[in-house]
Amino acid sequence: MSPVLQHLGMGLGLGGLGFLLVVGIRGGSDDGPRAPGAHAALMGAAASGSSEREGARAPDDAASLDASADAEAAKDAVVDVAPPPPPPPPPPPIFRVASLVGDTSLAVADGTMGHRPFLTALSAAGVSRSESYRVLRAIAPVHDLNHTSPTDTFHLAKEKTSGRVVAFEYVTSPVDVFQARDEAGTLNGKKLDLHIDTRRVATAVTVGLDLKASLAKAGLEDDLLQRIDDALDGHAELSDVHAGSRFRILATEERLQGLFLRYAALDALEYTPAQRGGSPLRVYRFPPVDLDKWRPLPSVAPASSSAHATHIGSFYDAKGQEPYHGGWRIPVPGARIASRFNPHRMHPTLHVVMPHNGVDFAAPTGTPIYAAASGTVKTAGDSGPCGNMVQIEHNAGIISSYCHMSRFAAGVHVGEHVDTRQLIGYVGQTGRATGPHCHFAIKRNGVFIDPLAMKLDGVRVVPPSQRDEFDELRGGLDKALDAIHLDPPVPGSEPNEPDARPDAAVDAGSDDQVFDEVTVP
Ligand SMILES: [Zn+2]
Repeated sequence: MSPVLQHLGMGLGLGGLGFLLVVGIRGGSDDGPRAPGAHAALMGAAASGSSEREGARAPDDAASLDASADAEAAKDAVVDVAPPPPPPPPPPPIFRVASLVGDTSLAVADGTMGHRPFLTALSAAGVSRSESYRVLRAIAPVHDLNHTSPTDTFHLAKEKTSGRVVAFEYVTSPVDVFQARDEAGTLNGKKLDLHIDTRRVATAVTVGLDLKASLAKAGLEDDLLQRIDDALDGHAELSDVHAGSRFRILATEERLQGLFLRYAALDALEYTPAQRGGSPLRVYRFPPVDLDKWRPLPSVAPASSSAHATHIGSFYDAKGQEPYHGGWRIPVPGARIASRFNPHRMHPTLHVVMPHNGVDFAAPTGTPIYAAASGTVKTAGDSGPCGNMVQIEHNAGIISSYCHMSRFAAGVHVGEHVDTRQLIGYVGQTGRATGPHCHFAIKRNGVFIDPLAMKLDGVRVVPPSQRDEFDELRGGLDKALDAIHLDPPVPGSEPNEPDARPDAAVDAGSDDQVFDEVTVP
């Protein structure tokens, strides 16, 4: 543990709780400003090579890189780990209504129950009253149709000429299917004997222009993109995944009658960025998914099929650490804390109690300052002792202040909304300060509180009691990851963006030993 961390942990009384504040070590890739809506846009146009961090790359270069990356991905996209597991015996074919779609003598229809009685739903699907009762009588012995769920679906096939129902399915989940089929003039109902198998997926992906498309080329389903985002959360930003980045992916998928149903888990991930020298990052889900306690199958209505309601679990790196977002950000990531909140601080020369109402983050002039949370700009201007100051009004009567700025970020005006991590200004030493720093203060209902007591970004660590278990799991997953063939880096994806982040260890002049009378109105 670094001295900074130790100091922090002790200062907050959190040192023994398997919990470390991340100030001082939080480096890496996600300190940049986050444009509003960037995350959502990303999911549609991931890795487009056009994020704000990569303006240097010409569009043509990006396109040609994409072409080669995609070619590589297509050539070598899915690499099953050797030796492949023996294929499970093919399940016995089970008749499904959907298989009748090609039969020109039949009309095949689907419906979702909604808040309708069963007979009403069938009537809306063009089934006559008498045929609806026939279906009801066939299904009722195997499933209670008096208690339907709005998301239940049904599928039916009827003769075009007579309107007679020849097959019907009532579906409450992918494995809970109640079927009636016409046999010699009688509709006989039964519950289908459907089984889910799980299997490990081990795949390499070289990212092209569009991450989603690259995953699809590797034979992976859409759902995995969200899971990759979850797994990297805190470790890396999906918005930094550019063309030429490479993944090794270990996932567990569930298959229903031999067809993909869903991912039970993303088990481990290796991410090698195209930029920044490309050192690989590995994360491991811990504890692993317990397939026996795996969440129930989703209901079947289309609207819910894309819902992401899973508990995604924790993904730790090889050191057993998982950075997380606490909701409040350190305004100057990586900066040294030069002076802490201290309501009883004795002034060193005046010998009077002179509270320090905030935290000083020392960093070179020009270092970006980000909004610690979303809110509305309350003031932005020269505030006297506090120098150039921005104040942001948040929910719950909370106001955050950022002082001594050398200048404000463009577009920061009173009344403007700012997002968490939005750039608001740059470190300076305007006002009463002896060196460049950002005095960061928070008032709740008019009273100063310690900003470090807010839910700031932090790092979870695997508890000591589970460390052996984690290491054993990681050992197995590392072997499986190592076995996935990974293409060499795509030429042209060398780092082309100098790391503009300031050196966190720079010992910029500290401040307040002389005076730091901060007045936050
Ligand atoms: Zn201060």
